[in-house]
Amino acid sequence: SDAASQLPFGNAFAELPPAFYTHLQPTPLRAPYLVGISTDAAALIGLDPAMANSSSFVDVFTGNTIARDSKPLAAVYSGHQFGVWAGQLGDGRAILLGDLPARDGGRMELQLKGAGQTPYSRMGDGRAVLRSSIREFLCSEAMAALGIPTTRALAVTGSDQQVRRETMETTAVVTRMSPSFIRFGSFEHWYYNKRHDELKLLADKVIANFYPEFLGAENPYRELLAEVTRRTAHLMAQWQAVGFMHGVMNTDNMSILGLTLDYGPFGFMEAFDARHICNHTDQQGRYSYQMQPRIGQWNCFALGQALLPLIGSVEDTEVALSQYEAQFAARNDALLHAKLGLTTHQPDDDKLFESMFAILQAGHVDFTLFFRRLSDLQADSKAGDEPLRDLFIERPAFDAWAEQYRARLRQESSQDAPRKLAMDASNPKYVLRNYLAQVAIDKAQNKDFSEVAKLQEILRRPFDEQPEHDKYADLPPDWASHLEVSCSS
Ligand code: AMP
Ligand code: MG
Ligand code: MG
Repeated sequence: SDAASQLPFGNAFAELPPAFYTHLQPTPLRAPYLVGISTDAAALIGLDPAMANSSSFVDVFTGNTIARDSKPLAAVYSGHQFGVWAGQLGDGRAILLGDLPARDGGRMELQLKGAGQTPYSRMGDGRAVLRSSIREFLCSEAMAALGIPTTRALAVTGSDQQVRRETMETTAVVTRMSPSFIRFGSFEHWYYNKRHDELKLLADKVIANFYPEFLGAENPYRELLAEVTRRTAHLMAQWQAVGFMHGVMNTDNMSILGLTLDYGPFGFMEAFDARHICNHTDQQGRYSYQMQPRIGQWNCFALGQALLPLIGSVEDTEVALSQYEAQFAARNDALLHAKLGLTTHQPDDDKLFESMFAILQAGHVDFTLFFRRLSDLQADSKAGDEPLRDLFIERPAFDAWAEQYRARLRQESSQDAPRKLAMDASNPKYVLRNYLAQVAIDKAQNKDFSEVAKLQEILRRPFDEQPEHDKYADLPPDWASHLEVSCSS
């Protein structure tokens, strides 16, 4: 059937004046095929996942057919890249199809990433390779399953058509979904072009659609900045808690809804190193693990600068931004307590966390395995220590910390069984390790998409034991230590 081309697209973004975007058609790809579909993402827009097997679905979500009601466009934005003002960027390879009604009563925008050149492509070819498209697809959905705010990914389609990166690679299109793809850089664009009328139109639209609770506020723009600052601080704490590293936290990759946006050279922490840089193009380590909370704040300041003409005063802008540190600290603290199964707060808890990170750092201990195995430690005995202890080369350092932790557990009369249940619901067993993604990509490049589907299934229940999939929770194999992820995508 051609149900996909009959989807009832709206085009709410296009209610903004033409200066905000360019209407255009995606550039078709030769003989596209389905690589993967997320039934969970499909459910968010009430779409029958069986539809994905039709050629019309593949055509619509590759950009080869334009759905009846869709008026595709690419949006303009600017941004700071690696701390430097970069001027105009924009959707260089993403094309917005429009929006569909969502199950929650709102709307979801659907965007094709890799659907061809736009007026904002600069030197780029408008394409995305299969490798990075699978990574974005899997990680968006995995993050959602971890309970972390994120844009979603409905599907990936591929084509044998090739583009040049370091080598020749085949192309793909990811269909991303989000209530909005508006970025901090969308506001910076109008601010730095001194077009405050457009700046106000954009802010008013974002408030009306996504923050209606501020419509009647004394200063809605200050409230907007305060809420985005709060959400961003919380998002950073959530990233840190699962060891997620974004890799390219430029202001054009920061969502005005506080969602994880734009999956490029991201990674999950394996051998713990707070200075770890997952994007090998980031030589300074601006976006290393330990820098993410500070960069999140820096980005909020960049947004604050852009909103200053609307907010009206430096004082009000500072008030809105000032809560970042406290919001991050509170969420980070709550998440660490949950990760360690602690239900009370004690004065020395920070020291316990610091000494924990110190032994993780010294031993380059696997982040995910450490927290998962920690739930087997017993408050009154060393009987459950072995699997966790085995992760450490320096056993005495572990033993010393374990005694500290055990004493802390006894201080709140912690019961082993309920604590384990609670901890296992906070510490995922399965995350998208680089090597797992790489295995799925290698197979997909040979047209075997079964491993993509398998990873999807495992990662939608990251906190469940799934004993039949134990090996997907293992340490990376030796060959994986050579894997590098760059901006090239
Ligand atoms: P990113 O670093 O992925 O956030 O991308 C930064 C900017 O480069 C955005 O404007 C993207 O649309 C653009 N861009 C990245 N890759 C390509 C490409 N292959 N073709 C066109 N534009 C691209
Ligand atoms: Mg981007
Ligand atoms: Mg990108």
